[in-house]
Amino acid sequence: MRTQRQVVDYSLQKRAVLRELLAGRVGTYDVCDASPYLKNAARFHGEPTDRRCPICRSENLTLVHYIYGDELKQSAGQARTLAELPVLAMTLSEFQVFVVEVCLGCDWNHLVEQYLLGRDGLTGDGDVAGEQDVAGTGGVGRRRREAQR
Ligand SMILES: [Zn+2]
Repeated sequence: MRTQRQVVDYSLQKRAVLRELLAGRVGTYDVCDASPYLKNAARFHGEPTDRRCPICRSENLTLVHYIYGDELKQSAGQARTLAELPVLAMTLSEFQVFVVEVCLGCDWNHLVEQYLLGRDGLTGDGDVAGEQDVAGTGGVGRRRREAQR
């Protein structure tokens, strides 16, 4: 069951940052500043992609999914693997997911998108289409129509 909703896409902001970088208005040290925490999260909970880092072009990007919400209690702010999200979505009524892309080569990192997951999405206004993948597996850039809500 799919509960993803209120998707906010940050690809425009990312393109803007990359443009600034190309134009020399910001330096790579400004944008390649992944913290040790973020890099650990990428190593242990990250979702590998086949997309090349836009900065160093030698490593593939890793997606890290951070979860926030009152129901998560002490787990709020932690990273979770993509596989764990559907389970949480069936357990909790609502929580926020922030997806960050990270390059473990050059420390580039940027927010990719955010969205809500959780059972509250199941009782909505008929937008539950019976799709199977809750978290949009590998799903950055896919099926933008969720953003309509
Ligand atoms: Zn890189």
